[in-house]
Amino acid sequence: AGLLDGKSALITGAASGIGRAAALAFAREGAWVAAADRNLDAARSTVAAIEAQGGQAVAIACDVTEDAQVAAMVAAAVDAFGSLDCAFNNAGIAPFQLNSGGVLAGDLEEASWLGLIDVNLHGVWRCLRHEVAQMRKQGGGAIVNTASILGLVGSGGAAAYVASKHAVVGLTKAAAVDHAPENIRINAVCPGYIETPMTEDTMRRRGEQVLARVPMARMGRAEEIAEAVVWMCSDRAGFVTGSCWQVDGGYTAR
Ligand code: NAD
Repeated sequence: AGLLDGKSALITGAASGIGRAAALAFAREGAWVAAADRNLDAARSTVAAIEAQGGQAVAIACDVTEDAQVAAMVAAAVDAFGSLDCAFNNAGIAPFQLNSGGVLAGDLEEASWLGLIDVNLHGVWRCLRHEVAQMRKQGGGAIVNTASILGLVGSGGAAAYVASKHAVVGLTKAAAVDHAPENIRINAVCPGYIETPMTEDTMRRRGEQVLARVPMARMGRAEEIAEAVVWMCSDRAGFVTGSCWQVDGGYTAR
């Protein structure tokens, strides 16, 4: 039997990297998966991979910066599966996107700051808001947000990203307290450096420098993040809420 048998799950950023690995892991554990992304074609390829392993999934187009699209995404997931038991709010962009990487905090352009925060923080909040509304009607659910090790410690040249991820950690804790009485568990995963399209560029430019700071001296695999998320969404994590779990090869332990 799978850890998520009979549960329905919504995953954002499911077209690539961690979200795609999570979608496959959720399906393997028996969940029905709604794979959402602003890149619909790539989300469809995640669905095809799930179907090829015998699972059930639907692809949904959604840009998490548009509240109406987020509302429609949650409605579409509920439409497809009749409920929403698990949600993984994972869509995010990297420091180097929107010209915010490698720029000192005091030198950031307002548009870069606002653009990054709108995806990484406000996007998670928009999703959470609509998911909570649905889970409340059903009598409970489990939500996991993707923060980062940069939600726990700082880093140079990434102020907007670091701020967005620290805020995701704060939102996770606040929402966990607020919705515990409604039987909605809310946690975050804090990945270290993981091999995905997002980190390709950084690793090419200064991979050695990055790995020198990781006690395990390697990058993580997207599947290793997915395992933690599956577990936090499962009933085995029944007493776990408000946790922000580092899966980082020891990065934040040093
Ligand atoms: P990725 O670039 O491979 O995947 C991100 C996905 O999110 C893409 O499919 C993209 O289309 C989607 N996306 C981006 N903006 C969106 C929007 N506005 N609406 C809907 N979808 C959108 O990156 P990844 O490494 O898998 O990152 C996933 C999450 O993990 C992000 O939140 C990222 O910040 C976080 N994270 C990644 C690492 C890492 O080392 N890769 C480390 C810590 C945290």
